[in-house]
Amino acid sequence: MKARLLRQERRSGTRPANGDVRACPDCGQPTCEFSERFRFDGNVVPAWVCGVPPCRYREVVRHTSVTAVAASGMLRRAAIEVQAGARRTMLKARAQTERSQRHIETTRAAVEKHK
Ligand SMILES: [Zn+2]
Repeated sequence: MKARLLRQERRSGTRPANGDVRACPDCGQPTCEFSERFRFDGNVVPAWVCGVPPCRYREVVRHTSVTAVAASGMLRRAAIEVQAGARRTMLKARAQTERSQRHIETTRAAVEKHK
Protein backbone atom coordinates (compact mmCIF):
# COMPACT_ATOMS: atom_id res chain seq x y z
CA MET A 1 0.00 0.00 0.00
CA LYS A 2 2.79 2.40 0.86
CA ALA A 3 4.51 1.79 -2.47
CA ARG A 4 1.39 3.07 -4.21
CA LEU A 5 1.61 6.34 -2.29
CA LEU A 6 5.22 6.99 -3.21
CA ARG A 7 5.41 8.87 -6.46
CA GLN A 8 7.78 7.27 -8.88
CA GLU A 9 10.27 9.56 -10.54
CA ARG A 10 10.04 8.69 -14.20
CA ARG A 11 11.30 12.02 -15.46
CA SER A 12 14.64 12.45 -17.13
CA GLY A 13 17.43 14.35 -15.44
CA THR A 14 17.39 17.02 -18.14
CA ARG A 15 13.82 17.94 -17.32
CA PRO A 16 13.33 21.58 -16.28
CA ALA A 17 12.82 22.31 -12.58
CA ASN A 18 10.83 25.04 -10.87
CA GLY A 19 12.64 28.36 -11.11
CA ASP A 20 14.79 27.44 -14.14
CA VAL A 21 15.31 30.43 -16.40
CA ARG A 22 16.20 30.47 -20.08
CA ALA A 23 16.21 32.89 -22.97
CA CYS A 24 12.75 33.63 -24.29
CA PRO A 25 12.27 32.20 -27.81
CA ASP A 26 10.01 35.15 -28.60
CA CYS A 27 11.70 38.33 -27.26
CA GLY A 28 15.19 36.92 -26.65
CA GLN A 29 15.41 38.20 -23.07
CA PRO A 30 16.69 35.77 -20.41
CA THR A 31 13.35 36.02 -18.66
CA CYS A 32 11.57 32.79 -19.54
CA GLU A 33 10.91 30.98 -16.24
CA PHE A 34 9.74 27.42 -15.72
CA SER A 35 7.18 26.36 -13.14
CA GLU A 36 5.37 23.05 -12.77
CA ARG A 37 2.33 24.87 -11.49
CA PHE A 38 1.43 27.75 -13.76
CA ARG A 39 -2.30 28.39 -13.88
CA PHE A 40 -3.92 28.98 -17.23
CA ASP A 41 -7.69 29.13 -17.46
CA GLY A 42 -8.15 27.25 -14.21
CA ASN A 43 -5.70 24.52 -15.20
CA VAL A 44 -2.44 23.85 -13.38
CA VAL A 45 0.21 23.05 -15.97
CA PRO A 46 4.00 22.88 -16.19
CA ALA A 47 5.11 25.68 -18.48
CA TRP A 48 7.71 28.23 -19.49
CA VAL A 49 6.44 31.80 -19.18
CA CYS A 50 8.27 34.98 -20.19
CA GLY A 51 8.33 37.55 -17.40
CA VAL A 52 8.57 40.59 -19.71
CA PRO A 53 5.12 42.21 -19.68
CA PRO A 54 4.77 43.07 -23.39
CA CYS A 55 5.97 39.59 -24.38
CA ARG A 56 4.36 37.12 -21.93
CA TYR A 57 5.41 34.17 -24.07
CA ARG A 58 3.85 30.90 -22.86
CA GLU A 59 4.92 27.37 -23.58
CA VAL A 60 3.03 24.55 -21.93
CA VAL A 61 5.44 21.65 -21.52
CA ARG A 62 2.94 18.86 -21.01
CA HIS A 63 -0.76 19.22 -21.49
CA THR A 64 -2.94 18.01 -18.68
CA SER A 65 -6.68 18.12 -18.35
CA VAL A 66 -6.47 18.36 -14.56
CA THR A 67 -8.04 21.53 -13.24
CA ALA A 68 -6.81 23.20 -10.05
CA VAL A 69 -9.99 22.05 -8.28
CA ALA A 70 -9.51 18.46 -9.46
CA ALA A 71 -5.82 18.55 -8.46
CA SER A 72 -6.69 19.74 -4.95
CA GLY A 73 -9.36 17.04 -4.71
CA MET A 74 -6.80 14.38 -5.63
CA LEU A 75 -4.38 15.75 -3.03
CA ARG A 76 -7.14 15.70 -0.41
CA ARG A 77 -8.04 12.09 -1.21
CA ALA A 78 -4.35 11.10 -1.08
CA ALA A 79 -4.04 12.79 2.34
CA ILE A 80 -7.12 10.94 3.59
CA GLU A 81 -5.59 7.67 2.38
CA VAL A 82 -2.33 8.43 4.21
CA GLN A 83 -4.27 9.15 7.41
CA ALA A 84 -6.30 5.95 7.03
CA GLY A 85 -3.07 3.98 6.56
CA ALA A 86 -1.58 5.52 9.70
CA ARG A 87 -4.76 4.68 11.62
CA ARG A 88 -4.66 1.04 10.43
CA THR A 89 -0.98 0.77 11.44
CA MET A 90 -1.79 2.20 14.88
CA LEU A 91 -4.70 -0.24 15.37
CA LYS A 92 -2.53 -3.18 14.29
CA ALA A 93 0.21 -2.14 16.72
CA ARG A 94 -2.32 -1.80 19.53
CA ALA A 95 -3.80 -5.25 18.79
CA GLN A 96 -0.30 -6.77 18.67
CA THR A 97 0.53 -5.20 22.06
CA GLU A 98 -2.69 -6.61 23.54
CA ARG A 99 -1.94 -10.11 22.19
CA SER A 100 1.60 -9.92 23.58
CA GLN A 101 0.30 -8.82 26.97
CA ARG A 102 -2.25 -11.67 27.04
CA HIS A 103 0.53 -14.10 26.12
CA ILE A 104 2.73 -12.79 28.95
CA GLU A 105 -0.14 -13.13 31.44
CA THR A 106 -0.95 -16.66 30.28
CA THR A 107 2.71 -17.68 30.50
CA ARG A 108 3.08 -16.06 33.94
CA ALA A 109 -0.04 -17.91 35.19
CA ALA A 110 1.34 -21.22 33.88
CA VAL A 111 4.70 -20.61 35.59
CA GLU A 112 2.94 -19.77 38.90
CA LYS A 113 0.90 -22.98 38.62
CA HIS A 114 4.05 -25.12 38.36
CA LYS A 115 5.82 -23.55 41.34
ZN1 LIG B 1 9.65 36.96 -23.97
